[in-house]
Amino acid sequence: MSQNEARSQAVFEITTGEPMVVDKPKSLEEIWASDVFTLLKMEEALSKSAFKAMKKTIDTGAKLDPEVADDVAMAMKTWAMSKGANYFAHVFYPLTGASAEKHDSFIVTESSGKAVTEFNGSLLTKGEPDGSSFPNGGIRQTSSARGYTFWDPTSPVYILDTANGATLCIPSVFVSWTGEALDKKVPLMRSNSAMNEAGTRVLSLMGESSVAPLNSSCGAEQEYFLVDANFASMRPDLLLAGRTLFGAAPAKGQEFDDHYFGAIPERVQVYMEAVEEKLYKLGIPAKTRHNEVAPGQFEIAPYFEAANVAADHQQMLMTVLKNTAKNHGFVCLMHEKPFAGINGSGKHVNWSVGNATQGNLLDPGKTPHDNLNFLLFCGAVIRGVHLYGPLLRAVIASAGNDHRLGANEAPPAILSVYLGSEIESIFEQIREGTLDNTSESGIMDLGLSQIIPFPKDAGDRNRTSPFAFTGNRFEFRAVGSQQSVSGPLIAMNTMLADSLNWIADELQAELDKGIEKPAAVVAVLKKLMTEHGAVIFGGDGYSEEWHKMAVEERGLKNLPTTADALPYLNDPLIQNLFETTGVLSPVELKSRYEVYAEIYIMSISVEAKMVAEIAKTYIYPAAISYLSELTQTNESASALGINLDTSTVKTIAEECNAMMASVNKLIEISEKEDFASTDEHMQYCATEIRSLMDEVRAHADVLEMEISDEKWPLPKYREMLFIK
Ligand code: ADP
Ligand code: MG
Repeated sequence: MSQNEARSQAVFEITTGEPMVVDKPKSLEEIWASDVFTLLKMEEALSKSAFKAMKKTIDTGAKLDPEVADDVAMAMKTWAMSKGANYFAHVFYPLTGASAEKHDSFIVTESSGKAVTEFNGSLLTKGEPDGSSFPNGGIRQTSSARGYTFWDPTSPVYILDTANGATLCIPSVFVSWTGEALDKKVPLMRSNSAMNEAGTRVLSLMGESSVAPLNSSCGAEQEYFLVDANFASMRPDLLLAGRTLFGAAPAKGQEFDDHYFGAIPERVQVYMEAVEEKLYKLGIPAKTRHNEVAPGQFEIAPYFEAANVAADHQQMLMTVLKNTAKNHGFVCLMHEKPFAGINGSGKHVNWSVGNATQGNLLDPGKTPHDNLNFLLFCGAVIRGVHLYGPLLRAVIASAGNDHRLGANEAPPAILSVYLGSEIESIFEQIREGTLDNTSESGIMDLGLSQIIPFPKDAGDRNRTSPFAFTGNRFEFRAVGSQQSVSGPLIAMNTMLADSLNWIADELQAELDKGIEKPAAVVAVLKKLMTEHGAVIFGGDGYSEEWHKMAVEERGLKNLPTTADALPYLNDPLIQNLFETTGVLSPVELKSRYEVYAEIYIMSISVEAKMVAEIAKTYIYPAAISYLSELTQTNESASALGINLDTSTVKTIAEECNAMMASVNKLIEISEKEDFASTDEHMQYCATEIRSLMDEVRAHADVLEMEISDEKWPLPKYREMLFIK
């Protein structure tokens, strides 16, 4: 075996490991939502009136009576203890994008010393974690670290089974003692209410006699990579940064496209089934799974749910993917770009809004041209993306996603809207002030009698658009794979609320003039299209021409890095958007900017340190050791009058010197601390530090191709991507 010993040992263990013994998958009835305190279980456990009150809170957001909360708490405790849980935890979603939980036991001791279990409405409703270590962007000083969690009754509680036992998990919001939102759930819920209010205004003006509460929904497609744990544990960059900071491209990458939708490897399929079983128990409707474009890359997509619940479920799904991977000898990488030169991972956030009376308001139906509600809501999205494109870009900004957006395989960093040919032509007609009929999409007839003819979709897909209409929803495709879906959902709901309010005002003015409804709608949308139609784009979003046209002719913003995008959170337009809709106060918004900027700067600093360390302690020693072997051999050979080829020696020596020069420069410039502003510090990371990291890597990757395989200390791309 001609490999570095540790690497060859890893390959040996992977390829000779015992196949996993798998139990037959359990039936869906047996496991579906078995670890969730569902409405059904609640109905069985609660009195009629208590259940009715809970249901009303869930459906309409009505306030819950403390006495009912006591009843609910009692029922939850009984159920949870019957499932083996002795602990409960308020689970909340701090600005780090992760989930956090503080566990408390049901146990209390009485004065007699006897231990009993206790759980009541107030314990269910309110918790007080010592939140001083969570980022708050200046809202709280550490010395006044009080933070509270409050139960969110609209997201179901569940049992989380871990090796340490079972815990009753209670989805909660997280706020400071002054009442500011420190999390992602509060603004998500507020954005939904703002959208509901504005949408109801529009629908009432449209003459709808009954309008049920509007809710946003979300179905997120999650991409991820699986790498064998034996390899991952030998890659300090994967462990600490979640991505490879070094690695030469393998001879075969993804150019054959032979992985996409290919047969799922057996070991991976076993893993996926284990993941799905856990998700089903948690009531998370995992629906599709397949191989993705890159070798070693996969996707899972649950069926869509109400946005608030979907966001909680998405966090759980990421945890389950990671934890289950451990049991199967994998590491699940959710970084946006774990491997250079290989497709990155995104999270497509499918989003729509609807209610029980009007249905999905982004569903055009069979005759979109006379579906006025649809046109208004779709128009509202167009206006929102045009006005608040930089906000949408800012909420998906992260050190990881920088490597994806703007590169040639992911949605561009320019926010435009793809509508599909049919809907686009309707909006173009509206812009011209003529809306007559729509082109029929027709029937797809393959001329094969055994294949049932199908109605054609109203438009093709466009994989290059960051924000695409896909038949009855919008798909925000530029979201990063490890990001929480809450940020994007908050931005989309809020921009929609703002646009729907604008539409309601304009519509009201038209109707007041005595104009008929259809004509009034066309007039409002014509104005909307004149002002905001520039954001609609159906062409190739990856092309050079688009990048030029978007910026120069259409006035759209191209924001390639987080350092370019995040400062928009301080833009008065965006501040005003959040303030007028009541979603985030200026203080809350500012704190988000501070926290995300700090995370960005820290992520790049950690990577820079790793680059220097790996270059110095792994790559340089390997290169020098090989060099000394070669030079000694050359010397002995020339003593015998044999002149060996010296090109490798020269290349290695040159690349080694160049790499170390870059490393030293990187270390030196990383020490800079005096920045005029956070914006400037972010730019410094995005440009100066990153370009030196790339320089170091470029030399190291050349060395990888020159040095004897036997001496190379890091698992190679071909091993991590292809050996399962
Ligand atoms: P594709 O890969 O073709 O985009 P998938 O089937 O993988 O599609 O994922 C589509 C996602 O969109 C699923 O999560 C699905 O439940 C979700 N979805 C479907 N309809 C809606 C809707 N009205 N609102 C939000 N999400 C939706
Ligand atoms: Mg998709």
